Amino acid sequence: MLEADVDEYEEDWISKPRLKAKVCLVGDAGVGKTSLIKRFVLDQFDNKYIKTIGTKVSKKSIFLYDKEREKEREVILTIWDIMGQEGFRELLKDAYFCGANGILAVCDATSADTMNGLDGWLDRTYRVAGDVPVSILVNKTDLKDGRQVEDDVLEQFGKAYECPHLFTSAKTGDGVERSFIDLAARIMHKEKFAGKEELVIP
Ligand code: GDP
Ligand code: MG
Repeated sequence: MLEADVDEYEEDWISKPRLKAKVCLVGDAGVGKTSLIKRFVLDQFDNKYIKTIGTKVSKKSIFLYDKEREKEREVILTIWDIMGQEGFRELLKDAYFCGANGILAVCDATSADTMNGLDGWLDRTYRVAGDVPVSILVNKTDLKDGRQVEDDVLEQFGKAYECPHLFTSAKTGDGVERSFIDLAARIMHKEKFAGKEELVIP
């Protein structure tokens, strides 16, 4: 699965172990999951709505400063995109969430319905993926006039699911990189204490 040549890294392996993390995006159809991934991985945006059929997996490496080791560390993110339809959700749930290390739960800032829709997604997430870092992304913040997701509702959600919320726009790129990096940093922190980092040896 890894594209990088193992030998390239071998020398550095002990001092700079890589961490591999599976990140799943969840949320209703049309909230911008595919667009957020495209922005983060390719730095591109498309106005077209391309229906995701089944799941698609993208990959991107990032480098995070590990305070404890006083070193930079590579985190290889495999980013899973899912089709929002109910039927598919049922069909794919286990495979999709299996082994997930972190979740980005996306809603559309202009639609309160998509915020409420996150309830079902987050319940499912915790049931299948267990206690992994989760962030709520309130996307499409470039559409300023249409803001429908209220702050107090966000606060309530954050408390109920113990997760932060961040504002993003896949269109302008605002908040997108930060959201992925913040989640990756929380995963790194959590995995380290779980003693799981040896699992990354390719
Ligand atoms: P998905 O079904 O959750 O994967 O949603 P998509 O990524 O396919 O996006 C659905 C539609 O919303 C597309 O027409 C996108 O161009 C548009 N879209 C996605 N993100 C944004 C955003 O941040 N701002 C605006 N204005 N449109 C967006
Ligand atoms: Mg999609």
